[in-house]
Amino acid sequence: MENEFRIPADQGIAGHVATTGQILNIKDAYSHPLFYRGVDDSTGFRTRNILCFPIKDENNEVIGVAELVNKMNGPWFNRFDEDLATAFSIYCGISIAHSLLYKKVHEAQFRSHLANEMMKYHMKVSEEEVSKLLVTGIEPVKEIHSCYAEFTYTPRSLPDDTTPLCVLSMFEDMGFINTYKIDLHTLARFCLMVKKGYRDPPYHNWMHAFSVSHFCYLLYKNLRLSNYLEDIEILALFVSCMCHDLDHRGTNNSFQVASQSVLAALYSSEGSVMERHHFAQAIAILNTQGCNIFEKFSRKDYQRMLDLIRDIILATDLAHHLRIFKDLQKMADDGYNTKSRTHHSLLLCLLMTSCDLSDQTKDWKTTRKIAELIYKEFFSQGDLEKAMGNRPSEMMDREKAYIPELQISFMEHIAMPIYKLLSELFPGATELYETVAANREQWTKVSHKFTIRGLPSNNSLDFLDQEYELLQSQGAFGSDDHCLNGCLDDTDGGQGQ
Ligand SMILES: [Zn+2]
Repeated sequence: MENEFRIPADQGIAGHVATTGQILNIKDAYSHPLFYRGVDDSTGFRTRNILCFPIKDENNEVIGVAELVNKMNGPWFNRFDEDLATAFSIYCGISIAHSLLYKKVHEAQFRSHLANEMMKYHMKVSEEEVSKLLVTGIEPVKEIHSCYAEFTYTPRSLPDDTTPLCVLSMFEDMGFINTYKIDLHTLARFCLMVKKGYRDPPYHNWMHAFSVSHFCYLLYKNLRLSNYLEDIEILALFVSCMCHDLDHRGTNNSFQVASQSVLAALYSSEGSVMERHHFAQAIAILNTQGCNIFEKFSRKDYQRMLDLIRDIILATDLAHHLRIFKDLQKMADDGYNTKSRTHHSLLLCLLMTSCDLSDQTKDWKTTRKIAELIYKEFFSQGDLEKAMGNRPSEMMDREKAYIPELQISFMEHIAMPIYKLLSELFPGATELYETVAANREQWTKVSHKFTIRGLPSNNSLDFLDQEYELLQSQGAFGSDDHCLNGCLDDTDGGQGQ
């Protein structure tokens, strides 16, 4: 219709129906007081009778009015027409409600697309960054540090801006670039994207992911992983290490659920909320233009790779580790069987957890510094929980947590059993277990002299090192220094930067 007539919502026949919500059946329009002849006069149309009825929403509110004019094959609209109109109006109400809902869903989708677009823009890695990373060529690992491939090396001592190049060196040294024909620009872009995908909480940041990945490299170099796992599994493990905490917000799974975060809404029904998000972020990066380092894989290998990465990242949930611990122990007792698919999966989970907790296998100063970062993160979650009116767990409560005790318990119940298993499966891993055990001893020693709950007001555990040096000078460790060695002398003091 070309012409549109507009009348106020409370006037005329339609206005009356809209305000009363009652159906109006007019047998003779011209004799009805509410009828307005103006329209007929101007158009030449002759209105004889009218059936006007309201359209209501589910709350019985009038959202519209429909009008039928001039009954055909009869003098006026009858009772049957009224019933039909009522049924039709219910149908109209539902349709209108649905189309409004549909419009809302559409808008929400657009808003989500917009947020995604903005995120992609800010996550973007520029071509300059990519070429800058590749301009010097890939450095051999020996040139990063003479002890780069030794268990005692502390990757956290490297400056943050050199870490992407170090990742490339490790890819090269493990033969991945060659074996899988990985395009260097794609790899460089992927590494820079992953680094950008980390936020900056005290502990779960890119430096953590980098040191975890470095430990995977150490396992590859020192434990002859190729005798235990397929190449594709080792590559999956390394990439999982890089991606395993992507977009961590410094709060744990139970916090997501308690705070009803968006992540909990997405994943809480399946458990491991954060780990599912880390995996989803990894996939999002792979799907970003120019970042898919697996692009040359066959369909089958590609699927296998994604399945492996998902399983390995989900295994970083310590709850998962505790669930499979019995199976891990049984595997170590029975002996590793390279032909067993189950053993391959279990071993990948164990290796991933070993990488994730590998700060515990470094010298005392590193472990001590890491405890500081972890509790800083825990306590800020605890503060948020208190602000939400919830009671944080003891280890997240700066007024209650006694760090040495918590550390000892963590090392005895989680970390030491992991490296114990590792040393049962790989004789070369014995030194790792010994260092973790020695660090545990050290916590026991300082715990006698340290009674502050939470963190001191300067947020630092530096004074524990003075305790350590004092104990050393008193000969508490005997004459040989079990943690620090020649390799660390020049990196000492730069941890966690
Ligand atoms: Zn982690």
